[in-house]
Amino acid sequence: MPSEGSFLPERPLKLLAFLTSSKLAGRRQEQVLASPEVPIEVDDGTGVWTTDGMPMIYMPRHFFLNNHAAVESLVGRDKYAKSLYDAGYKSAWQWCERESATHGLRGVDVFRHYMKRVSQRGWAQFTVLSVDDRTGAAQVRLDHSVFTFSPKKGERVCYMFAGWFPGALEWAGRDLGRDWKLVGEEVQCVAEGAHDHCLFEIRAA
Ligand SMILES: [Zn+2]
Repeated sequence: MPSEGSFLPERPLKLLAFLTSSKLAGRRQEQVLASPEVPIEVDDGTGVWTTDGMPMIYMPRHFFLNNHAAVESLVGRDKYAKSLYDAGYKSAWQWCERESATHGLRGVDVFRHYMKRVSQRGWAQFTVLSVDDRTGAAQVRLDHSVFTFSPKKGERVCYMFAGWFPGALEWAGRDLGRDWKLVGEEVQCVAEGAHDHCLFEIRAA
């Protein structure tokens, strides 16, 4: 039997998902999720998955959440959150560097592409509510965040994402010739119990 607090799926994965696309222009629509929107290739020889030439790993959500909870309980939330912030920042920067070259995108368009891709990969549905291309300040709404499916309630639980936004936006700033110094923070979370979506604010450090 799994220990109390572990994250096993309570029911088969639903095929229905709320998807957003540029066509929908911010309107949410329930539709059947037939196949991933993100391109995936698998190397015959090594079994390595790639998207846009970048190696990827596909895993069960409960496996990821169990690992996340295990490290959080070992390290402590604050220390773990700080460490994840820095790692997330670095990874977002690296992702933007690679993807901008792959797709020929520049500046804030790379950030928007990043938000689309992480949505397509199932972390959450990320909607950019605002982004100021003079300062890098932004607001991002998250629906169906992977962390809000955990049984942990009463506090903000999506802190792993916090470094992703300043990492991608500072990259965009550098690409635009601007030296943005930003911080990202979740200011409301579904897991707190009073909100129907999570919200991140990114502002000058
Ligand atoms: Zn949240």
